[in-house]
Amino acid sequence: MSNYPQQMDLIGSELAIRWQDGQEQFIELKHLRQECPCGYCKGEPDIIGGVETPVKHQPLTEESYRLVSINPVGRYALQLTWGDGHSAGVYSYEYLRSLNSK
Ligand SMILES: [Zn+2]
Repeated sequence: MSNYPQQMDLIGSELAIRWQDGQEQFIELKHLRQECPCGYCKGEPDIIGGVETPVKHQPLTEESYRLVSINPVGRYALQLTWGDGHSAGVYSYEYLRSLNSK
């Protein structure tokens, strides 16, 4: 089986993940939100022209960086819900591991 989070804790402004392989990762919530992988945040390919256009979105506020809930998606990802109601981001375990951490 691939690596998966065994335990997750919110510590201050960071999400601490203890992985099944024993590694611990601390990701700043701000960074986590800025790296939201959903089409809304990352820009989606245009259906007609196939041109990639970043979607304009609301400026992020304090609330945007408040992590409200973490929901497992199958056995490969986490869906994060933020204080401003944004919950479209599905973070695969692989993606989470690739994020900058301390
Ligand atoms: Zn997003």
